Amino acid sequence: MLFDSHTHVNFKDFDADRDAVIQRCLDADIWMINVGTDVAYSKKAIEIAHAYQEGVYASIGIHPVRDEISNGVHPNDLDDADFSAIENMAGDEKVVAIGETGLDYFRIVGDEVRAKEKQKELFMKHVELAKKLQKPLIIHCRDAHDDLIEILVSCFKFHVSGPRGVMHFFTGTREDAQKYLDLGFHLSFSGVLTFTHDYDELVRWAPLGKIVVETDAPFVAPMPYRGKRNEPSYVKYAAQRIADIKGLSLEEVAMQTTQSARELFMV
Ligand SMILES: [Zn+2]
Repeated sequence: MLFDSHTHVNFKDFDADRDAVIQRCLDADIWMINVGTDVAYSKKAIEIAHAYQEGVYASIGIHPVRDEISNGVHPNDLDDADFSAIENMAGDEKVVAIGETGLDYFRIVGDEVRAKEKQKELFMKHVELAKKLQKPLIIHCRDAHDDLIEILVSCFKFHVSGPRGVMHFFTGTREDAQKYLDLGFHLSFSGVLTFTHDYDELVRWAPLGKIVVETDAPFVAPMPYRGKRNEPSYVKYAAQRIADIKGLSLEEVAMQTTQSARELFMV
């Protein structure tokens, strides 16, 4: 069994064959979380999850650079109504996490200072919602680890128990990784491991019990599907690379990462 902790079968890329893609996974004993990046895609993720008795779940939130990921909304035009819609959906039983949220300074649009402040403000709202509902966070971070860690430390310092979450598509340094582990977060690795050795050392170092796997489909398909549409059934390629790097069997990595994901997302 495998667990794709971060995929986007809710995106329009899957409109033509969504049910077939999901059924292919469930038949192969692969579970998934469809991650929302705005209100519409969050709603869609919940709707999909309700069509399956088990194995398909939703995470809801507003991505820090949603203009690129979603439906053309400029990230600076943050609308309070959008976040209220997320809050109103977050109690749904199929919503197992809050996100995709976080900070992305790689793709800042317009005034830098204002854009960063807006991103932080929105991220903190997601963190507070997750804490209130006792649900884990799914966090995106690019070129912003220092600011993100500062926020997490301030939010979780006096919050000893309760779920934390996962650093999705983790590509930071070992020092950053250690800080996230100290805060109680898991690290998620994707199929990017199949075509670069940049993260091998990090993967070798990270404790297997703190690792989960993901595809981030439809993006970044692993070898041998590079350049094509990614899908959750390809999560096995990331797991296989982790096994190879750590000198473990695929079965061992599949079992441990699945167990970690099921504990983290409480399913
Ligand atoms: Zn994503």
